[in-house]
Amino acid sequence: MKIHEYQARDLLADAGIPVPSGKMVQTIEEAEQQAKVLFDAGNTKIVIKAQVHAGGRGKAGFVKLVSSVDEAREAAKFMLTNRMVSPQTGEDGLEVKRLLLAAGVEIEKEYYLAITVDRTNNTSTMIASAEGGVEIEAVAESNPDAIHKTPMHPLLGLEPYQARQLAFKLGFVGKQVGQAVNIMMRLAKLFISSDASLAEINPLIVTPPTDEHPNGLVLAIDAKFSFDDNAMFRQKHIADMFDPAEENPAEMRANKFDLSYVALDGNIGCLVNGAGLAMSTMDIVKLHGGEPANFLDVGGSATEEAVTEAFRIILSDKRVQGVLVNIFGGIMECDKIARAIVASAKEVGFEVPLVVRLEGTNVAAARKILEAARSEIPSMTTATDLADAAKKVCAAVTVAV
Ligand code: GDP
Ligand code: MG
Repeated sequence: MKIHEYQARDLLADAGIPVPSGKMVQTIEEAEQQAKVLFDAGNTKIVIKAQVHAGGRGKAGFVKLVSSVDEAREAAKFMLTNRMVSPQTGEDGLEVKRLLLAAGVEIEKEYYLAITVDRTNNTSTMIASAEGGVEIEAVAESNPDAIHKTPMHPLLGLEPYQARQLAFKLGFVGKQVGQAVNIMMRLAKLFISSDASLAEINPLIVTPPTDEHPNGLVLAIDAKFSFDDNAMFRQKHIADMFDPAEENPAEMRANKFDLSYVALDGNIGCLVNGAGLAMSTMDIVKLHGGEPANFLDVGGSATEEAVTEAFRIILSDKRVQGVLVNIFGGIMECDKIARAIVASAKEVGFEVPLVVRLEGTNVAAARKILEAARSEIPSMTTATDLADAAKKVCAAVTVAV
């Protein structure tokens, strides 16, 4: 599960990590009002940031530093009325429904600090770089030595000596060292206690020197978190941050019926039982030159109603030009699928070619049901095996294009 930056900043602040305070708004008027509040409080610059579950906002023009209420309103208007496209969003981009307004800070230097699960080493690992900011992906490519990885002990977590070593490696000096160590230690504790799978501060910054703070201040000015879905039952305050508006609507519908559905980019809708079979079905579709529109595992115990909903979801995807049903009935009874196909045909209609391959439990009954409904579903063909089914559906969409 992902959360928004404004929520992540609250988590950081609650954990004692310094982060400029901000406020989330949802309209241009609210943004204008909040900008006034921040300027009246003495800030000379404020930052306006799109709140979406994707990064790369800075480069996409969806993080703006402004110095007047007028500029703030223009920036808010731009963000709330344009879709944000970044390398992390896909070419359609994302609609922006929320903005964060915060005091703008001056930046002396940007760092990268994150914790994630390193599966190769079976441990949570702190990742840090003195080359933080919007180019971090390029740094990881071109200069991997500039990225420092510190494995965390499974029981002890990040140890203070590790944080100090890392702070020195990153080049922090004077009072910055203690501040950076404090942030690292608190971030590590928060990562573990919140069952996070990613906690990222990019950039962590040092502000320019002042008389009061000759080494500047170390602050977090961006934050991104992901959490382990399986732990959300014991993380109520985090589960409450869930924003369904940021999720794929089809995936949300599927969730309600306990269907495992992942939207993909192709045009062949796939309805399969079992994750393994779903994976191999997608492979075989690709082998025959097709592109799956989705991964959909209806599981073994789905009801006829859930399977019908699965067809509704697949057929509501405008890109779907052909549907492949591949069922190997073990616990799942083939006749249940057949009845769902007939019900879906009545309700929504299969206007696109439908290729059905059924094997296993109750297959004879299923074939009878489909045979009886053949005249009602003219776009249906049956297949003898998976390769045959894949070939037929790929041929059908190629013709349909
Ligand atoms: P991201 O591009 O989605 O990761 O968004 P960030 O919040 O990291 O912002 C992108 C970049 O905008 C940062 O790396 C900073 O260089 C700049 N930025 C963000 N907030 C501020 C701010 O308060 N002051 C200044 N001067 N720059 C900022
Ligand atoms: Mg960032």
